[in-house]
Amino acid sequence: MRINPGKCVGCGQCRVFCPMGCIAFTRKDKGGQIQCRINEDECVDCEVCLRANACPTDALEQPPAAWPRSVRGTFSNPLITHKETKVPGRGTEEIKTNDVTNRYKCGYVGISAELGRPVLGARLRDAERVFMVLAPLAVEFEKQNPLTSLLADPATGKLKEDVLGEKVLSCIVETIAPIERAAEILDALDKVAGEIESVFSVDLISRVEEDLSIPALEMLKREKRSYALNGKINIGLGRLCIKGADC
Ligand code: SF4
Ligand code: SF4
Repeated sequence: MRINPGKCVGCGQCRVFCPMGCIAFTRKDKGGQIQCRINEDECVDCEVCLRANACPTDALEQPPAAWPRSVRGTFSNPLITHKETKVPGRGTEEIKTNDVTNRYKCGYVGISAELGRPVLGARLRDAERVFMVLAPLAVEFEKQNPLTSLLADPATGKLKEDVLGEKVLSCIVETIAPIERAAEILDALDKVAGEIESVFSVDLISRVEEDLSIPALEMLKREKRSYALNGKINIGLGRLCIKGADC
């Protein structure tokens, strides 16, 4: 996002809408008139300021973003759909649609690392740090996640070099693994957590079994790990759409 200096009158009305806090007051060199300026390196192209329709002079402008800058908008603007997954925002549905997608089968868990949030955001080099600590464990990176499509080398977890400096509002590294492997994956994430230059949270995603047990919960208790439960409840409107899918 940019502010057209020929149009900005420095009213500041756009600033409160920016979730990254990257719109600042500045001064013209001549005349001393106050204007606003966007720190384009911190801006994630979410377009919240534009959609707020707060600018009285139409000074906010979103120029077409070329690669690799274009990844900012696709991960941060909830109105843009990822071409890989057809899902907007972070581009993944995780367990929300599991009753029709069956991504998380019995005996498997999803382990995800969520990076960034409003104000902080996340650079994609932090996502690479997570990928690189998980890749040697030969885990399966979720194909229906747009970050996975940015991998240059799934065997090492290296991302495409040109996206590493790009900043997004948030993103999520997703893996699916047999529950027996969950503890070692969580241990690996513990090791990398201190290297992440943003907020970093770990999700352990599990279906509830037919007998209402949650094996992942038992594993967390055995491992003496702290956790906060969060349920996504499907009410049975969906029907499994994968032919021949096992449980
Ligand atoms: S596009 Fe988003 S991050 Fe960039 S200045 Fe506007 S509100 Fe802030
Ligand atoms: S709302 Fe428009 S005129 Fe006011 S500071 Fe922002 S860009 Fe400038």
